[in-house]
Amino acid sequence: MNQSIYGLTLEQLTAWLEERGHKKSRAVQVWEWLYRKRAAAFSDMTDVHPACLELLASHFAIQTASEHLRQTSADGTVKFLFRLADGNLIETVLMRHKYGLSVCVTTQVGCNIGCSFCASGLLAKSRDLSAGEIVEQIMKVQLHLDQAGQGEKVSHIVVMGIGEPFDNFENLMTFLRVVTHPKGLAIGPRHITVSTSGLADKIYAFADAEPQVNLAVSLHAPNDELRTRIMKINRAIPIAKLMEAIDYYLAKRKRKVTLEYILLKDINDRPEHALELVELIGDRKEMAAVNLIPYNPVDEHSQYRRSEPESVRAFYDVLKKHGINCSVRLEHGTDIDAACGQLRSKQIQKDTAGAHQPGTAAPAR
Ligand code: SF4
Repeated sequence: MNQSIYGLTLEQLTAWLEERGHKKSRAVQVWEWLYRKRAAAFSDMTDVHPACLELLASHFAIQTASEHLRQTSADGTVKFLFRLADGNLIETVLMRHKYGLSVCVTTQVGCNIGCSFCASGLLAKSRDLSAGEIVEQIMKVQLHLDQAGQGEKVSHIVVMGIGEPFDNFENLMTFLRVVTHPKGLAIGPRHITVSTSGLADKIYAFADAEPQVNLAVSLHAPNDELRTRIMKINRAIPIAKLMEAIDYYLAKRKRKVTLEYILLKDINDRPEHALELVELIGDRKEMAAVNLIPYNPVDEHSQYRRSEPESVRAFYDVLKKHGINCSVRLEHGTDIDAACGQLRSKQIQKDTAGAHQPGTAAPAR
């Protein structure tokens, strides 16, 4: 299969066409067809010169993945399972918020970070998604909205699906350049959030490279002992090192960072943990917001349970009392496979019934 044309920035496509003797304006014309008119095939681009279309079709594809399964929740959340050209399955989620329509994208097939609450970590990463495969998830969801005929448009993106986006850094950056480009989907950078498990060196690189896109960091514990238990990456990148990288981001970008905190019953959800978190945030109060995430239990991790609503409330109250900007993540699609990766996990298990198949459910990011 040819590579996805969605993986090229406008500048790259322009250079590629110019090298082959085509005018600069052709690239803009093609982009218009891809992102504004949402052409599904090169042959749809009726006003583009046929020689240019032939050249493009011999090197690129517009559709590299296909929809394998779709689940729609009563609250309007739609989970898509896409099959990639090599047969791998990935999950993409459309969520409806008061402020707009948000899509959660996957960046890798599997994940190497191995957070203990997330079954995705049990299945090692088999490969990174290309920039085009990440963009195509947005395009497929947009096409779904187009077909519904309500004129709705994807307005927000969260890079929080399966995979560690900073472990696929170059493709992530290209993806961000494509979806934010004013001549393409033109999604506002401030409407995009990238979530990392805390790859410190990449937080520095991100601070240097992408000034406008929001950053969220999965913290999940206020001290090293607990965080190492929950996220083994903390052994390599302990909290002090992570906070140094966050401080660099805050100083450089002067943008708030979101600290994500998944609440696990009797593990990290006590008021004393909340107090420790307040201490850790310290004088970063003005620049940090905490997002509390109620845990979605999955079969693979029976050691973790969902915090009681009273514990969530008490945790929230401690943070608020100490002036920390804090929210509890709203849940979407609770009547369908709610945990991230759950739909994919179930499908893989079905496909390989009888064979050993590690689970894949549930990132909190
Ligand atoms: S939570 Fe995210 S980073 Fe951690 S194992 Fe799951 S997919 Fe990977």
